[in-house]
Amino acid sequence: MSQLQIIRIPVLSDNYVWLAHEPTQSLTAVIDPAVSDAPLSESEKRGWTITHILNTHHHGDHVGGNQEIKARTGCTIVGPRADRNRIPGIDIEVGDGDTYDLGTATAEVFDVPGHTRGHIAYWFADSDALFCGDTLFILGCGRMFEGTADQMWTSLGKLRALPDSANIYCAHEYTQANARFALTVDPGNADLTTRVAEIDRMRAAGEPTVPGKLGVEKRTNPFLRADDAVIAATVGLAGESPVEVFAEVRHRKDMFRG
Ligand code: ZN
Ligand code: FE
Repeated sequence: MSQLQIIRIPVLSDNYVWLAHEPTQSLTAVIDPAVSDAPLSESEKRGWTITHILNTHHHGDHVGGNQEIKARTGCTIVGPRADRNRIPGIDIEVGDGDTYDLGTATAEVFDVPGHTRGHIAYWFADSDALFCGDTLFILGCGRMFEGTADQMWTSLGKLRALPDSANIYCAHEYTQANARFALTVDPGNADLTTRVAEIDRMRAAGEPTVPGKLGVEKRTNPFLRADDAVIAATVGLAGESPVEVFAEVRHRKDMFRG
């Protein structure tokens, strides 16, 4: 086993591309390269060569750099089996229950459909690192473009089952807008109120809020808390199923203009 060195690369307006370097065999994966230039130059600067691309889903702001990086480095592209036809240059298809070895660092793969039908997440347990693309965000979750509330709630449940110490390497800095919304459906949550103040301070100082810790998300992210009776009551669905509550919270977020 070896610990990944993980580097955040902000690109476009609010995307995070991640470099994960495996030091034992000197492998470097780029997770969801929205673009090619920034991850190529960042890895070069560190004396690393990109050997792998790990894609979570097919959206352009996650695969946009695939072909150029592959042409320049000859890297191997790993992506969701369920969406293999929409991942440019895919070499290796993975899905739920598979493991993928980045050298001595092993990722468990989860199918997490909802945002897209073929979305996957990579969990590197030895590094406490979860690469979840646009499924789980800090205080939020992805929009359901290709899936149902039932699917998305099930997908988030797989991620919620991971340890509190998991670091969430999601693909966007949406935290402050998510925080504004979270307060509307969980206003009495003291952990949330405290956290929003901290997030506002960080953003005012120009600091990233990603990665975050899963343990904190479990206490404050309303999309992981649709089975909480207080949230159900707040959205007028006391006693209804978590899926109903989740669907309502997601719908309200879609309509929310903070
Ligand atoms: Zn997306
Ligand atoms: Fe995205």
